[in-house]
Amino acid sequence: MVDATRSGCINHPGVEATVRCKQCGTPVCNTCVVIGPTGRFCSAACQQRHVAFTQRAQQFEGKGRSNVFMRLRNVVGALIVVAAVAGAVLVVGYMFEVPVLKDIAQKALVLIGKG
Ligand SMILES: [Zn+2]
Ligand SMILES: [Zn+2]
Repeated sequence: MVDATRSGCINHPGVEATVRCKQCGTPVCNTCVVIGPTGRFCSAACQQRHVAFTQRAQQFEGKGRSNVFMRLRNVVGALIVVAAVAGAVLVVGYMFEVPVLKDIAQKALVLIGKG
């Protein structure tokens, strides 16, 4: 008794299929299998479809991730630059006794509880 429906190659009904296509799930034998960089497939068409699909998924993922990181980095970077510039201006104004800046610096120190 040979169970032909269980694991027969799609192209060779009498031959046992050793591989299932990664793209469409079709069972194929060692002769029919198409081995590509992303897996084993029933045909070159399926292999190309899977490669295209994988590349699109990776591009989409990479783009989304880098966008979030870039935005985060830009925001954090801008905040750091603003804080550093403001702090430097206030410190310089305080040290060199520039009247307006010293006044602002003293107010800032009062605000953060050190005045
Ligand atoms: Zn296939
Ligand atoms: Zn076959």
